[in-house]
Amino acid sequence: MEQIIQAGLIEEEPGLRTTAGRPSKVFRLADQSARVIGAVVDIRSCTIVSSGLSASVEDEWTIRFPTPNTYELLISKLAETIDELRSRHGAPCLGVGLSIPGLIDRRKGQVVFSPNLHFTDGQFPARDLERALGLETIMIQEEHALCLAEKTYGAARGISDFAIIDISSGLGMGVVSGGRYIDGHCGFGGELGHIPIVPDGPLCGCGRRGCLETLASDTAVSREISSILDRPAEIDEIVTLAKEYPEVVLPVLERAVHHLANGISIVVSIFNPSQVFIFGRMFDADPALFEKLNKEVSTRTIGPSFNECGLVRAHGDKQLGALAGIISRLFHSLGPRVQGP
Ligand SMILES: [Zn+2]
Repeated sequence: MEQIIQAGLIEEEPGLRTTAGRPSKVFRLADQSARVIGAVVDIRSCTIVSSGLSASVEDEWTIRFPTPNTYELLISKLAETIDELRSRHGAPCLGVGLSIPGLIDRRKGQVVFSPNLHFTDGQFPARDLERALGLETIMIQEEHALCLAEKTYGAARGISDFAIIDISSGLGMGVVSGGRYIDGHCGFGGELGHIPIVPDGPLCGCGRRGCLETLASDTAVSREISSILDRPAEIDEIVTLAKEYPEVVLPVLERAVHHLANGISIVVSIFNPSQVFIFGRMFDADPALFEKLNKEVSTRTIGPSFNECGLVRAHGDKQLGALAGIISRLFHSLGPRVQGP
């Protein structure tokens, strides 16, 4: 207990609680006396949040900016924004959780290959940000961040076997099996989005054609609708357009759902999850799309596996996952001393 207090991970709750006639101190996770940072790098935008150790995220402690177009600018903009949040609050900042897309070699802390953010290829973002800030920084692959968010704060609490399919930018997968995050030999596991589905299909960021993420992601839908409209259209606008011009938009969304159902049926058949969480916006366009997804997955998945699996929308996000990652690290780093004599 003393070590946890000294490390600044808990704080005294204002006021006293009396038990059996004797006043005693009440502690809670440090929310005002210490802060942590969750930083999310995505293809188009970055989001930085500052929170206490209960990970409650508020708008006034959230800053978003477009993802810079070089690695050096990315690190300097992240550091500058984190410093701004640190100085605005004033309480000691204990560390940074950094969510990053792409294939990450967890042994080296290196982004090895990022199909949709190539300027990070070969780079060490957590190391470089840590040097810029003088603050402990850990890197978390973005699908791992989603799993952490759902498991720590969302609908996967208490669930040992689940999968998250992230269709928000590219298409990624995170799997927790037997309570353990499954990412393979060195961290490259989960690349469902780069399984080729359609020969000679759309060009993918990985350099090949017809990968699942070019057909079944929010970005794939944006690309197709943009082509029809002959102007850029992001998924937020497409959700609105689907209600105004369903005859134009819904067929595109239904094709994406068809391809996504193929991917999900593979995941259900291989991993036997009890829940598959879908993280993305396209289903906001029409609730019937999620029913269609469920039906299509049911027709392509062996019966007993499908019957044991629920398909639901994800409620967590990568910011929460980045926060969960650094908060978990802070507590685990005290483990041996806390458990010692
Ligand atoms: Zn690909």
